[in-house]
Amino acid sequence: MAPRADFAALRASPADVRVVTSDGSSIPAHSSVLAAASPVLERMIVGARRGWDADRTVVRVLGAPSDAVAAFLHFLYCCPDPSREKAAAAEDWGEDALGAHGAALLALAHAYRVPWLKRRVEAAVAARLTAERAVDALKLAALCDAPRLHLACARLAAKDLAAVQRSEGWRFAGRHDAGLQLELLQLLHDADQRKERWERERASQHVYRQLSDAMVLLDHIFAAADGAWEACKEASPCEDGVRRGLEQLMRHFAACGGRNRKPAACQRCRRAFQLLRLHASVCERAGGEPCRVPLCSNLKAKMQEEGVDKTWKLLVKKVTRARVMPALASREVPEAVKKSWAKYSSRRAGRFR
Ligand SMILES: [Zn+2]
Ligand SMILES: [Zn+2]
Ligand SMILES: [Zn+2]
Repeated sequence: MAPRADFAALRASPADVRVVTSDGSSIPAHSSVLAAASPVLERMIVGARRGWDADRTVVRVLGAPSDAVAAFLHFLYCCPDPSREKAAAAEDWGEDALGAHGAALLALAHAYRVPWLKRRVEAAVAARLTAERAVDALKLAALCDAPRLHLACARLAAKDLAAVQRSEGWRFAGRHDAGLQLELLQLLHDADQRKERWERERASQHVYRQLSDAMVLLDHIFAAADGAWEACKEASPCEDGVRRGLEQLMRHFAACGGRNRKPAACQRCRRAFQLLRLHASVCERAGGEPCRVPLCSNLKAKMQEEGVDKTWKLLVKKVTRARVMPALASREVPEAVKKSWAKYSSRRAGRFR
């Protein structure tokens, strides 16, 4: 830590204010530096000079240990826009000071409105956060309006609530500041909800992929021209029991739903019907070749005529996307892309000819 007398030496002009701290220490400093760095200090200096002894301007910076106040002043002197050598030399000193006086520096930077210092201290305190300090840091974040520190506390608590609950700060809050504990619990609840949402999202992603696989399977199952069940040569997704299950479902639909024409009456037929409807929604067979999947053209025509609701549209979109993503990820370039790429390339080549 730099000795306090240094401030006077940091500028050519003599020190013209004294910064007095809680324990009565007096630190000589330059009003021009303090006023430029902090609008609050500027007001205090102007106010102090209205007194009868303008030469002995005194500014009281209270509520923090004098070492922390000295560190705060040191930052004001050297850091807002330091030259490179100065910055390099100040680096070690600054990190030490941030480690030793992080909380006090954050409070000072907030109270005296030094935004660049506040940002730097907030990041430093967040980086040094431990379970032991989390509750105090949360309180500090609220007092100093420091959202990034707040977030760091929430993340830490979400990761290791047990450790936070073992901390002295937590137990103290339990005895004296139930509101703080409540806030922490609220933060945890929010984090949980985010996680839950994310897991729900993932679970539904899985369903979309399954549906997308089912659509591929339907194509394969009904690919044979004569309607015979064709053995599938591809590996996934046909290798497990999924294809067999889908075949059975379609056979059932042909036997049961085909006979009484009331798919809604039978749960299995209803499922089969929904899958066929989904197929009709995603089926993109080129005009000439007829689709062999049952009811495809009927359902297509019906949906075109009657329209579909938003939920169904969204489902179709997600299933289509689930099908497109693996295709994009795999190395095999789809035929359609190859064709359009070839067309595009030749057109470009033509332009340069
Ligand atoms: Zn297949
Ligand atoms: Zn049925
Ligand atoms: Zn089709």
